[in-house]
Amino acid sequence: MSKEMDGKVALVTGASRGLGRAIALKLAALGVKVAINYLNNDKEANKVAGQIAAAGGEAMLVKASVADSPAVKAMTRQIVAKWGKIDILVNNAGIVRDNLLPRMSDEAWDEVLNTNLRGAYLCTKFALRSMMEQPRGRIINIASLAGLVGNLGQANYSAAKGGLIAFTKSAARELGSRNITVNAIAPGFITTDMTDKLPQDARDMILSRIPLKRFGTPDDVAELVAFLAGERASYITAQVICVDGGVI
Ligand code: NAP
Repeated sequence: MSKEMDGKVALVTGASRGLGRAIALKLAALGVKVAINYLNNDKEANKVAGQIAAAGGEAMLVKASVADSPAVKAMTRQIVAKWGKIDILVNNAGIVRDNLLPRMSDEAWDEVLNTNLRGAYLCTKFALRSMMEQPRGRIINIASLAGLVGNLGQANYSAAKGGLIAFTKSAARELGSRNITVNAIAPGFITTDMTDKLPQDARDMILSRIPLKRFGTPDDVAELVAFLAGERASYITAQVICVDGGVI
């Protein structure tokens, strides 16, 4: 039986764990061939590829730092060499290096900006080549609520995510005429390795502000990615959509 997105090719960055893994699995379940990008974690990335293959889908591993320009160029070439094109790019790879401003190291600032913002710029720039040839494409940037409202101890992360939102809007304006949509998703608190480190009192405080009375799951975000990546979202671009349980 043919699936909704059979034949499409996606690059999902940071797909070895957390949101990226759920996004990769969801797209693969819809018939998309998925390139799984990650930085270090071979074991987890292999597991994701294995899960996709076991379900009858197609996956490839593309290990590279999204912040490294030659590596990103090589990664996009590798995908096009294998599958002929890139239809969908999900800029999901992200890190946190939290600290209050007086104690924030320059390295923590640079690392977060390089991965979360420069990484999305580089992947977009190199994946675009294939999208512009078609011309058709879907770019989905995983931002954060912190990029809209800021967060204590996360000046670096909030600046990167706010930058990613502005990048989304500019890229959408630039690429609309090529039939490429660019949207951002701003998740609230989603249960992953990234948020597991938060102390219990911080978790309780966040939960008290969520009308839906639960933290989000990676699947909550993956569902929206799948929608934005598909035909039904063809007239949606330059948007920032929150997946946050209505947090106040
Ligand atoms: P996570 O569980 O910590 O996973 C991070 C992923 O990014 C891993 O696959 C990691 O690869 C990869 N990665 C890190 N640096 C990379 C680099 N330089 N190049 C390529 N891949 C890299 O994170 P998550 O919670 O799923 O978050 C995913 C995205 O959602 C991030 O952009 C994050 O800012 C955003 N977000 C998350 C939440 C939340 O509540 N969790 C909320 C808002 C936004 P390895 O496994 O190899 O290390």
